[in-house]
Amino acid sequence: MSLEAIYNVYKVYCITEGAWVNIAKIETEAAPNYCPNNPSHTINPDSIYIQEKLGEKQPVVIKTNANNTTTGLGNFSDYFKIHGYKLDITTLNGTQIFPISWKKNIYALGFMYQPTIDNIGDSIDVIIAPNTVIGVLSNSNNIGDTVININGVINYIKVGHELLLNGNIVGEVLGINGMAITIDKPLDTSYSQGTFVGFQIRLLQSNYIANANNVNINRNSLAVNAIPANTVCNIIYNNTSNSTKTFHFIIYYLY
Ligand SMILES: [Zn+2]
Repeated sequence: MSLEAIYNVYKVYCITEGAWVNIAKIETEAAPNYCPNNPSHTINPDSIYIQEKLGEKQPVVIKTNANNTTTGLGNFSDYFKIHGYKLDITTLNGTQIFPISWKKNIYALGFMYQPTIDNIGDSIDVIIAPNTVIGVLSNSNNIGDTVININGVINYIKVGHELLLNGNIVGEVLGINGMAITIDKPLDTSYSQGTFVGFQIRLLQSNYIANANNVNINRNSLAVNAIPANTVCNIIYNNTSNSTKTFHFIIYYLY
């Protein structure tokens, strides 16, 4: 996978605003010595530092095919693993998030959840690479906007991914044109230039547990999700009852 650039996200303290501001610059460009909101603002020149480097690693899940070993993460061997998990659901009438990850690249073939009668009526979501920051807003955005311009590593973003501004999910990506991202609904709040832009991949959305039968997802498909080492996957369990319970699932993968 080619990157257009590696970006440094700088933090600059704007004295005029009395606040830290973010600005993304291509690595080969000079560090900013101005406020991105307004160059006439006074900044503290000793405050400037790099908070984050974007684009050095590959934070995305690559949809590929089991027969194609050129995933961008290098070739993988044909070892197969079935990894079982048990979640202790202790949040009542609410949502609980369980982050899981692997220390090596894995190639997920599918997974199965194994509900009992205790889980009926609840639902699960799975988010891969939650709120992975890929840049900052290059302009401010107003309420009602559906187009968002960023400075950052835009080629991680694909149509259908969820977009986050300052950690809030603002919609699903409908289109990408240069450094402009169109989302599926108008912003309901405004965001200033320099706001962190992130994305995430929702693999399961509102999967209702209707009965106590095992549910297999993607088991017989050739499709593989390549998940880079240390990428977080959030398993989100929505408990609609007043009781604690457990939830069991299995992930099948190649490594
Ligand atoms: Zn400023």
